[in-house]
Amino acid sequence: MSYLEEGLKNSEVLKLDRIVKNIAVIGAGIVGICSAYFLKKSGFNVTLIDKEKPGTMTSFGHACSFADYANVPVNYPGLIWDIPSMLLRKDGPLAIDLFYILKNLPWAISFLKNCNKEKVNEIASSLTNLLKHSQISYDEIFQDVDVSEYISHEENLYLFDSKKSFEDNEYANVIRKNNNVKVRNLNKNEVKELEPNIADVYYAGQIFTGSRYTTNPLAISNKIFDKFLELGGIYINQNVKNIIQKENKIELRLEDKNFYFDKIIVSTGAWSNQIANKFGDKFPLDTERGYHILFDTNEKLINRPVAWSESGFYLIQIHDGIRAAGTVEIAGLKKPPNKKRLAMIERQSRKVLPQLREVKSTWMGRRPTLPDSLPVIGKSQNNNNVIYAFGHQHVGWTLGAVTGKIIDSLSKDQVPNIDISAYAPDRF
Ligand SMILES: Cc1cc2nc3c(=O)[nH]c(=O)nc-3n(C[C@H](O)[C@H](O)[C@H](O)COP(=O)(O)OP(=O)(O)OC[C@H]3O[C@@H](n4cnc5c(N)ncnc54)[C@H](O)[C@@H]3O)c2cc1C
Repeated sequence: MSYLEEGLKNSEVLKLDRIVKNIAVIGAGIVGICSAYFLKKSGFNVTLIDKEKPGTMTSFGHACSFADYANVPVNYPGLIWDIPSMLLRKDGPLAIDLFYILKNLPWAISFLKNCNKEKVNEIASSLTNLLKHSQISYDEIFQDVDVSEYISHEENLYLFDSKKSFEDNEYANVIRKNNNVKVRNLNKNEVKELEPNIADVYYAGQIFTGSRYTTNPLAISNKIFDKFLELGGIYINQNVKNIIQKENKIELRLEDKNFYFDKIIVSTGAWSNQIANKFGDKFPLDTERGYHILFDTNEKLINRPVAWSESGFYLIQIHDGIRAAGTVEIAGLKKPPNKKRLAMIERQSRKVLPQLREVKSTWMGRRPTLPDSLPVIGKSQNNNNVIYAFGHQHVGWTLGAVTGKIIDSLSKDQVPNIDISAYAPDRF
């Protein structure tokens, strides 16, 4: 019987193993699942806690890319001047709820302050520092957990809707080149050869060399999660309602039980401030909401993820249809999904791929985003036994495994072999 089962049966309070550290990972998105996996492999007693089923929130509905090329942050030089025209375009990639943003101006101002050239270069280099270890970290898990049936190596294709969007992208090409990220430009005929079903609505394309994607993100999350359980990890499907810091221990108050742990990993994505606040930490964390639409299909229409620059989403053929996923909406955690954004994604998807059949389902997710587009990975200033792992914005699926590896090192009080100073919790 494990330490936790014993605790559940015999008392309200967990009986602690004195030798092996008891670690709670709060949040079972891809970041929490990978962290729990690596911690369990290292021999810790690990309890993963989530109010939902593992991998079913933001880590479920994204654009499926292992985007190790995505080192160009959303904050780009000159963004502030483009915002008015972006907002006027009803099929553009960005939507902002003005009432929400006026109430949350500090985050927006801070985000815009990071849009100068020098800062963008710095962010891109710090993102590259993590992204370049993302594939090797996943492959360490995938040697243990066979997910080969859910991974495709057909490289992602970015489609530019106009000559202007192609030329405007030059700044991103320079950033990628400076960080050794390889892309390949394609003319119209070359795009057509790769993806003959795409309508003739684009100007040119670009391939992200060596990229791969998943055809079933939830299946990958579940497979890693199942391995975690097989290794002896414990899962509690409950909300963490309160946290009390005791001498050398942290008490977690769940819905109907209280448990004590030596260390806590906070991987609660866009909701992380709710937990961080209990430790006296407050982060400028907001959410970039994104959407997906799943279209029914009975034939193979595209061979790879195809991004559409006009509206900022990807079309990806996955196990249960064609998913159109992406866009950014600044409207906070609580508002219900915006039907206009979904209608826009459907309209634009059909323009790019007219063969799409009926809509099977729709979804909204919440990317956790700090104003500098970098995650928070590191120990709390207020409690050495609290480690943060959230804020992975547009690349959290890609960075799940590498973050898990770092969390494992930090939990052993080791210095990770990746420089994590740029992600420090005390940088704000
Ligand atoms: C439309 C869209 C497209 C995207 N495309 C890509 C892509 O192609 N590639 C890529 O790399 N990334 C992509 N992303 C980003 C990526 O999906 C996220 O960065 C990533 O999923 C975040 O993972 P996470 O584990 O931090 O958060 P989540 O998956 O949101 O997990 C956090 C978990 O914490 C739990 N939780 C919160 N509070 C509590 C509490 N009090 N008690 C218990 N549990 C709690 C939640 O229930 C949730 O399960 C995309 C995102 C969107 C929205």
